[in-house]
Amino acid sequence: MKFYSTNNTDLRVSFKEAVFNSMPQDKGLYMPVEIPRLDDKFINNLDGYTLPEIAFYVAQNLLGDDIPADDLQAIIEDAINFYAPIVKLEDDVYVLELFHGPSLAFKDFGARFMSRVMSYFLEEGEKQLDVLVATSGDTGGAVALGFLGVPNTRVTILYPKGKVSEIQELQLTTNGQNIRALEIDGTFDDCQALVKQAFTDIELNAKYRLTSANSINIARLIPQTFYYFNAYAQALKQGKTKVVFSVPSGNFGNIGAGLLAWKMGLPVQQFIAATNANDTVPQFLKHGVFEPKPSVATISNAMDVGNPSNWIRIANLFKEDMSELNKLIAGYSFTDDETSAAIQAIYDRYKYIACPHTAIAWQALKDYQQDLHVDDTAGIFLSTAHPCKFPDVFPSEIAAHVEQPEQVASLQAKQKHTVALGKDFDGFKDFLLKNI
Ligand SMILES: *Cc1c(COP(=O)(O)O)cnc(C)c1O
Repeated sequence: MKFYSTNNTDLRVSFKEAVFNSMPQDKGLYMPVEIPRLDDKFINNLDGYTLPEIAFYVAQNLLGDDIPADDLQAIIEDAINFYAPIVKLEDDVYVLELFHGPSLAFKDFGARFMSRVMSYFLEEGEKQLDVLVATSGDTGGAVALGFLGVPNTRVTILYPKGKVSEIQELQLTTNGQNIRALEIDGTFDDCQALVKQAFTDIELNAKYRLTSANSINIARLIPQTFYYFNAYAQALKQGKTKVVFSVPSGNFGNIGAGLLAWKMGLPVQQFIAATNANDTVPQFLKHGVFEPKPSVATISNAMDVGNPSNWIRIANLFKEDMSELNKLIAGYSFTDDETSAAIQAIYDRYKYIACPHTAIAWQALKDYQQDLHVDDTAGIFLSTAHPCKFPDVFPSEIAAHVEQPEQVASLQAKQKHTVALGKDFDGFKDFLLKNI
């Protein structure tokens, strides 16, 4: 499969090049030149396959012969080694739990697959790959745990001091081996600015083979299609052939992957883009104007994105046919108060505890089902993170019932290692140059 840039449809690069570059020089995003339509026989019989089998079939159709079948199979079995169950909460309301991986967030799918693909493409004798990643919490954990122990790679994570939760910080700082964490005295934007500047620094680029691991990498998008197919497979097992997906959205990579799955033939009646107060996309769907804004801070902070970079990919999927896009995607946005009320309502109704991002997707689904009176359609909302990662948002009655998965218990026994740095570039550069 070849990839083009959303800024230059004539460009052609290999999968390997797209993965290592992350972003084309022209600052567009990579997209597959052709999106294969999967065999109807496969789609209609999805319920006969396991998640790794589905993942292999989908990836092989997308990637063609970029990775030989045996190698691709090995990458997938190693990367996608946890479950993504749908859990029934009431008639036609299911939650797709994407938080059973090592970092307890859906970003594990993308990060684990990408790290293994990068490692696969690194050739013997090549320079070590230095991954720089800025995180507001979830990305860093998934990338750290994804690359942990992957040969010939090193990861440097920058996170804002005091702005990640305790579990997130443990996930960033207790790894050792090829992972190092930098606590930056600044905001997430400061962390991101440092990483961006490093990529344009001549001296650093001469010395190191730098790459980014952010969410726009095509190798993170592809594995996120797998769980949409797998969720549909589980709906089929429950006798449902019609599904709606409600996706808590920030940078729009997750829902973008769902739309890619739809383009490959997955029958989805409707996608719901559920956001917090950062409502650039719901506003666009309502008024037809895409107007990026500075992000505002909310309690669902992994979705605090005012200018979602993956939106351009979605627009490209629809080749500017905005009427089809408008039919397929419905937008809903919620305030922090509404998010808290949704967390409480989910707990009261089902005794289920949803993280704030997940709660937004539930509320959007409920509003949609009420607005549209859809019968006989399985509404599936995506749960993007385990609630234990966001302990501060829950009232004490709910907080007392949040379970601690085994991943957390083992973290708490480990030693934190982090280097504190200011937000000036010189200090960061100095650290990189001195710590070879
Ligand atoms: C990253 C993240 C999101 C947003 O996903 P996008 O792909 O950026 O839209 C939602 N919820 C959680 C918990 C996240 O970590």
